[in-house]
Amino acid sequence: MPLLSCRLCGKIFTSAGGRTCSSCLSRLDELYPKVREYLRDNPKVGFNIETLSQEMGADVRDIQALVDMGYLDRDPERRVDSETVARQKLAKEFEESLKQMKNSPAFRDASPSAASYGQQRYGDKDKDRKR
Ligand SMILES: [Zn+2]
Repeated sequence: MPLLSCRLCGKIFTSAGGRTCSSCLSRLDELYPKVREYLRDNPKVGFNIETLSQEMGADVRDIQALVDMGYLDRDPERRVDSETVARQKLAKEFEESLKQMKNSPAFRDASPSAASYGQQRYGDKDKDRKR
């Protein structure tokens, strides 16, 4: 495991993937529910890292870290947007795969070569239907 310096306290630690040391992570774990509670109890307070850190008596960087890790919704509307974007991306991928399917010979019924391909392949079936 690589040695990294914690982005919050600067301490060198053995990273299991994150950039935050375990002692900072446990501090954030304690801070997170408090911040959530505060945001829930004060829905009219605009999300502001400086205000939050003052209210929580926490380091601004700790609050920022929670935001960076996606624990706090700085902008709920933007989160909705990203969900929409993800859905649109899925729809587009589906469309692309449909297009690829249509481009495969079996689905290209409109072009003459594909028609003969289809006859060769499905000719027997057509005969059966006519009977
Ligand atoms: Zn740390």
